[in-house]
Amino acid sequence: MGDMGDYFNDLKAARKEDRAKFGVNCPQCRVVRPKANPSILLPGQRCKVDGYRDPRKWAEVRRADSDNTGEGGAE
Ligand SMILES: [Zn+2]
Repeated sequence: MGDMGDYFNDLKAARKEDRAKFGVNCPQCRVVRPKANPSILLPGQRCKVDGYRDPRKWAEVRRADSDNTGEGGAE
């Protein structure tokens, strides 16, 4: 019975982590409603409020992320 709940909790946690890691504040929200909290957009996601679409690609942000966390960046 609890298995399903655990599964969803894991999924939720993963989503939250993704948002924290890859989410960006919608730039259009800042323009359209500067007083409200901007939507958090993941790559390719469309803002529900103003229709702005994040132009980034998952492949790119994931690669950039692995670059950053990868072998100690000796440049
Ligand atoms: Zn927006």
